[in-house]
Amino acid sequence: MLTTREDGWGSLRDCTWILALAEYRVTGLDRQEDGRLVIELERHCVRRYVCSGCSRRTGRVRDAKVRTWDDLPWAEHPVTLRYPLRRLWCRQCGIRTERVGFADPHARLTRCFRQRIGLDCQSMPTSHAAMRHAVSWGTARRAERAFLDAWDRTRPKHRPRHLGADEIQRGKGQQFWTVLSDLVRGEVIGLAKDRSEDSLRTLLTTRLEARQRAAVEAVCTDMHRPYLNAVADALPAATVVLDKFHVLQHAGAALEDVRRHEFFRAGPVMRRFGRGKRWLLLRRWKTVRGSKREELRALFGANRRLFKAYVLREELDHLWTYTTRDGVANFLWGWLEALRWQRLPEMEKLGDTLVKHFDGIAAFCDHAVRFGVVESLNTTIKGVIRRGRGMKDETMLLLKLKWATARPIRSSKDLAKFLYLNLHSNQ
Ligand SMILES: [Zn+2]
Repeated sequence: MLTTREDGWGSLRDCTWILALAEYRVTGLDRQEDGRLVIELERHCVRRYVCSGCSRRTGRVRDAKVRTWDDLPWAEHPVTLRYPLRRLWCRQCGIRTERVGFADPHARLTRCFRQRIGLDCQSMPTSHAAMRHAVSWGTARRAERAFLDAWDRTRPKHRPRHLGADEIQRGKGQQFWTVLSDLVRGEVIGLAKDRSEDSLRTLLTTRLEARQRAAVEAVCTDMHRPYLNAVADALPAATVVLDKFHVLQHAGAALEDVRRHEFFRAGPVMRRFGRGKRWLLLRRWKTVRGSKREELRALFGANRRLFKAYVLREELDHLWTYTTRDGVANFLWGWLEALRWQRLPEMEKLGDTLVKHFDGIAAFCDHAVRFGVVESLNTTIKGVIRRGRGMKDETMLLLKLKWATARPIRSSKDLAKFLYLNLHSNQ
């Protein structure tokens, strides 16, 4: 045990200053064999202790038991704080432990240390963060969970004007998540297994308070019938706006059907010619360049009907440039007219779908839903799911998704808010 200057250490006052814990002072330092530094703490000046149950201060101490917390390292040395934690007689709660300022109840890490690990976990794998801070994987994961929980709990609850309900494929095969998001702020709100009516209804009713639900003007979703039912059920006042990219996906699928029909049933020569052109056909003309454009031209030269279907798909893009329902109706009418004598049953089927869902498609005229946000959210979500492959814990995945889409750190100032807890609380 080193307590004075004669051992060549700085004064304990300096150590108190370095540690910068409000209301606590260092009473001793202990060097251990494995390089760990154990710092003894005691309360500074204050004689009354805070009850962990009701936050009242009391001076009636029952007993004390030494407890330890891991803290940020000093240079290369891992640090453990030791402090005799009091048990108090509280008038309100009976026997309770005191609350310490530097850590959460029951936590084995200080809040500062937890923040550091939790933040690192957002930009690197948990195993790397654990190695960096010399803790076990489980400790790092728990720290991350506590960090994200604390962040999510203290966030203001916004009232979303536009919601997005979408399905995300989970791994291979036919397994899906339903993701509920706030499209104005571009944040994930909730996550549920399956893509059934029930899962979306549960999300809408449990993840959003009545106050928040009342603010919803529009819900952007695809033509998936269970979703439409769930929205009509849980949010009867909201308008359904069909997602542009999903409609265009249907158009792409129709085009693909035309290709199959035209080339694969037209003998082996044509079949060989049409093979492997699927991804080329799904691309937009303006994004196709050089030799690929020639390839497309050759394909269209061989089959006029495929060309027609491609042009019709390309034209469908213009649907979302109109600002009135009449404009959309006129355009759709013209589009169906152009289709009339082409003998393209696959595209005609698409036309029927568009007419059937006209209200939902044209609803974007009244509610300017940000379709781009839907897409960028999907990309972010897929990235997080891919990185966290094998993540069994659904709550954790949701917290990670919230963090990744809300992007709470956009400047060095934001970062400082997450990192320097003690120094700030001291001021
Ligand atoms: Zn109490």
